[in-house]
Amino acid sequence: MFVVAVANQKGGVAKTTTCLSLAAGLAQTGRRVLAVDLDPQANLGIGAGLDHDGVAPALYEVLTQGVRLEEAAQRPTQKGLETLSIVHAGARLAQAEGELLGRPGFDELLKNTLRTSAASWDLAVLDCPPSLGPLTINALGSADLVVVPVQCEFFSARGVVKLLEVVELVRERRNRDLQVRLVPTLYDQRNAIQKAVLAQLRAELGADVSDTVIGIDTKIREAQAKGIPIGLYAPKARAAEAYAELSREVLTLAWSRAQREAARGEAA
Ligand code: ADP
Ligand code: MG
Repeated sequence: MFVVAVANQKGGVAKTTTCLSLAAGLAQTGRRVLAVDLDPQANLGIGAGLDHDGVAPALYEVLTQGVRLEEAAQRPTQKGLETLSIVHAGARLAQAEGELLGRPGFDELLKNTLRTSAASWDLAVLDCPPSLGPLTINALGSADLVVVPVQCEFFSARGVVKLLEVVELVRERRNRDLQVRLVPTLYDQRNAIQKAVLAQLRAELGADVSDTVIGIDTKIREAQAKGIPIGLYAPKARAAEAYAELSREVLTLAWSRAQREAARGEAA
């Protein structure tokens, strides 16, 4: 299972939108995809037409009571998303951070949970809360790739530096192979400042900035209001095509990861 964490400590940068659009885009290629909501605000499922109110078991029960992800997984009913599963955050997830923090091994809890279910899905996409707290750290520790939605505004770009420092720490301490892709979101190509910030990000961070740029697109909001992922709601919309391209980028990274692991296996 190739695990993608969608993280940025800033709110409103399109983490949840990216997580769902990517998960649905990957599912549309026939892959078995698990989307997990780590944000106690719990919006992920709504965009796929799933109501999370009172749904149990959810991630809270998975992390605190040893419930399996397979038992907590919900299936959207829409055609084209047959291979997508969503695990809601659960109303008590905010509380879980406090409850679990002191326990030994908390840092590795999500990683171990995902590993137990590795045969059930090809990819997992994790929607992180807008913080660098224990849930985000758990997600970074579990992931093969962290996708960082970033707005091309001066302060947002600076905030990303902080996140990249945390990624570097996670790499040093326990997840050496963690890859990063910054994905420019909510991008307005007519805005000169955004253009300049994007050019600067590419100059400074090179290949860590994704080829895909997600532009502002009102179809995204319409799709979310209808509870239908953008790739199904308006497949020809620019944002839908951009998210399809991001899905292909992720699949390429997953494929090269698998190749490297196979090569390592042969060498061992
Ligand atoms: P986060 O999870 O980082 O807080 P969201 O995914 O909830 O961010 O997105 C924040 C807001 O921006 C939402 O209202 C969402 O509908 C809107 N949004 C996200 N991506 C786009 C886009 N490409 N075009 C227009 N609106 C967008
Ligand atoms: Mg969110």
